Amino acid sequence: MADNSNHFDIIVIGSGPAGFTAAIYGTRGGANTALFGGVAPGGQLLATMEIENYPGFVNPVAGADLMQNMLKQATRMGAKVFQETVAAVDLSEKPFRITSDSGRLYTAGAVIICTGAQAKWLGMTSEMKYIGKGVSGCATCDGFFFRGKEICVIGGGDSAAEDALFLTKFATKVHLVHRRDKLRATFRLQEKLRANPKIEIVFDHLPEEFVGEAKLTGVKLKNVKTGESRLLNVTGAFIAIGHTPATKLFEGKVNLDEAGYIVTDGKQGTSVFGVYAAGDVMDTRYKQAIIAAGAGCKAAMEALVYLEENKK
Ligand code: NAP
Repeated sequence: MADNSNHFDIIVIGSGPAGFTAAIYGTRGGANTALFGGVAPGGQLLATMEIENYPGFVNPVAGADLMQNMLKQATRMGAKVFQETVAAVDLSEKPFRITSDSGRLYTAGAVIICTGAQAKWLGMTSEMKYIGKGVSGCATCDGFFFRGKEICVIGGGDSAAEDALFLTKFATKVHLVHRRDKLRATFRLQEKLRANPKIEIVFDHLPEEFVGEAKLTGVKLKNVKTGESRLLNVTGAFIAIGHTPATKLFEGKVNLDEAGYIVTDGKQGTSVFGVYAAGDVMDTRYKQAIIAAGAGCKAAMEALVYLEENKK
């Protein structure tokens, strides 16, 4: 297939660790592979200051640097990276059809969806002000920086419960702030929370304002039943109110679960033969760069087998 053609063996949609790994393995496997990465390729890690748990880096690596390296590696190996956003997909017939936001039409023998998920934020101005300065959406990424500190977690689901438990490894005290009088988290996790002396559950409260100077020094909470306000003196606030998978484009085209995540089989296959998904867009549990990269590798390997078996 000529390089200037609009047809590719594999089109990868998304430019986080899953997408770039899929592109690397796709090209490495001999497939003419394109990746649509949006205007700023890199995904969620672009906003991560330091990554200490991605293997292969002795010292912390900035998320943006890690993603830049993945982009360069994929390009060096021959993947065509388009800095364009995908506007529409037609997965109803083969070859699959992908339209970019510039209106150009591309076709693909196989598609790998790696569009990721976004951590939900409360949406308050003061919250935005302190992101990276005390407010975080990722306990696994940032917990370490709160060793010996008093912090809070906002949310009442499994993620909030797991984050609170995980953060007790570092923090002296973790306030778990939930807007209702009952947690949504599973019973097993609730038992663990109650058994942990470092955790205090604050029911019926919502953050009203994140306060501080250069860095966060506290969170003003409002009691939703009485309307009273109180200040929680914490230097860290972890928002764990769920994620939104980026699957709008695929609604009605591949099977999604109730929360909107793409449903995959054990081989990253979606409900459409020849269409695969990898990374946070299908991962309701781990949401880690290394897991996404592994899933991207699996998806590409399966796409290569699919292309080989379905050669005309
Ligand atoms: P989730 O189950 O949707 O829980 C979100 C929590 O945040 C809820 O308690 C919700 O309160 C609260 N919340 C939502 N919007 C809020 C707002 N604007 N202000 C304050 N609080 C707000 O999300 P999740 O905990 O991330 O879990 C997502 C899925 O992954 C679930 O199916 C979960 O079981 C799964 N998961 C599993 C594990 C595990 O098995 N170990 C770990 C993590 C996640 P309400 O309760 O009042 O709605």
